Amino acid sequence: MTAADNLKGIETRMATAAREAGREPAAVTLVVVSKTFSAEEIRPVIAAGHRVFGENRVQEAKGKWPELLAETAGIELHLIGPLQSNKAHEAVELFDVIHTIDRDKIASAIAREMARTGRRPKLFVQVNTGAEPQKAGVLPEETVAFVARCRDEFGLEIAGLMCIPPFDEAPAPHFALLAKLAAEAGVDELSMGMSDDFEVAIHQGATLVRVGSAIFGARPKPAATQA
Ligand SMILES: *Cc1c(COP(=O)(O)O)cnc(C)c1O
Repeated sequence: MTAADNLKGIETRMATAAREAGREPAAVTLVVVSKTFSAEEIRPVIAAGHRVFGENRVQEAKGKWPELLAETAGIELHLIGPLQSNKAHEAVELFDVIHTIDRDKIASAIAREMARTGRRPKLFVQVNTGAEPQKAGVLPEETVAFVARCRDEFGLEIAGLMCIPPFDEAPAPHFALLAKLAAEAGVDELSMGMSDDFEVAIHQGATLVRVGSAIFGARPKPAATQA
C-alpha cells in the first residue's frame, strides 16, 4: 500500500465514523502529519489531491515545505508541535494554522508577529488533558481563563482546542474533556485524534484529526517519541 492508498482508506474510515456519530463527513478535516518524511514522500499525497498537512517542528518544515508550496497552490500547513517564542516569527510566516498556543509568552509573540506580518493564522490552544508533567499545554482548569486572556490581553481569536491524550490511557475521556472545555471557553473547533484513535475522536466531536503513521507508515524511532 502506498501513502496515497492509505489516504483513501483513512478518508473512508473518517466518513464512516462521522456518519455513525450523526455528523457530516465534511465537518471533519484530515490533517496529514508529514513530520520526518521527505518532500519526495509527501509529493504523491499532494498529487492524490490532499491539501492539508501538519508538521511538528518549525525548522524541519522550513527545510522541505517552501518547494512543495511553490509547486502546488492551496496547501494549508498546520504547526502541531511545541512552539518556542523565538520561532514565532518563522511559524507565523510559514503556517496557516497553529495548534499549540499554551502560554502567555507564546500568545504575545504570536500576536506581535501577526501584527508585523499581517498574516492571520488560525489558532488553537493546546490543553494538557492528562496533566502530564513532560507534556506541553495548559492545564484543564486553566483553559477557559487562558482562552479569555488570549482574546482580551493579546487580541488573539482562538478557533478551538487541541490535545494529545496520555499514551497509556483510553483516549475517549480526554476527548470528552476537551469538548467540554471548548464549550465552556466558547470555541468551536476540536483538534484531536491520531492514527490509533481518530474514529473515537470523531465520535467525540473532533473537527480536525491529525494522522501520520497510518498514512506514511512507521516513523524512525527518535521522532516517534517526540509526539
Ligand atoms: C506525530 C503527531 C501526530 C500523528 O501521530 P500518528 O500516531 O502518526 O498518527 C498527531 N499529532 C501530533 C501533535 C503529533 O506530534
